[in-house]
Amino acid sequence: MALNLIFLGPPGAGKGTQADRFAATRGLPKISTGDILREAVAAGTELGLKAKSIMESGALVGDDVMIAIVRERLDRPDVKRGFILDGFPRTVTQATALESIMIGRSSLIVIDIQVPEAELVRRLTNRLICVKCGANAPESVIADSQGTVDTRCQRCGGMFVQRADDGDAVVRERLKVYEQSTRPLVEFYSARPTFCAIDGAQPPARVAELIASAVDAVSGEVGVAGGGLR
Ligand SMILES: [Zn+2]
Repeated sequence: MALNLIFLGPPGAGKGTQADRFAATRGLPKISTGDILREAVAAGTELGLKAKSIMESGALVGDDVMIAIVRERLDRPDVKRGFILDGFPRTVTQATALESIMIGRSSLIVIDIQVPEAELVRRLTNRLICVKCGANAPESVIADSQGTVDTRCQRCGGMFVQRADDGDAVVRERLKVYEQSTRPLVEFYSARPTFCAIDGAQPPARVAELIASAVDAVSGEVGVAGGGLR
């Protein structure tokens, strides 16, 4: 039985961190559509060139391109034991396409990391990122009153700085956009026995435990879409 997961959750919920962590713990590939797009652009593939021209025009890469990326990626053999999708689906159109990609596979487990808005605003307005590689600083790293940070990025040794776009109003607007665009997605999945609402207003290690036990609890509910075992 494969563990096929998607992660939903607003900016600041720790979705990327938790997806990375779960993937590493279970030895499953984490499939980030953002990474695939960047690699395709860098490699100059047909898909990459198409995506590049769309992005250069200032538009967002549309559903059809994103769906093609995911369909191609989920055809590779390393997803046999399962996968974790990060950044997909973002729209009901994408979710519907994913349903057809999932035919004949173990059904999706949906992890929805829920955090109250006030807590998200607190986290996002205080967020520090590495100036060189963009990694998020660990929760324990906090700027002093002068905005100075002693700790350096563990990944590349860069300095941590406060994200320039994370003012309070900007953060609230981002959360509103997220809420409006993804509420239909949550409704799309929430009635399923494999939908897991996770309390994300907890320390990261605790959230990881909640996710692990929720996945183990619903694994018994995982059927195979479209019949047949795989
Ligand atoms: Zn860094």
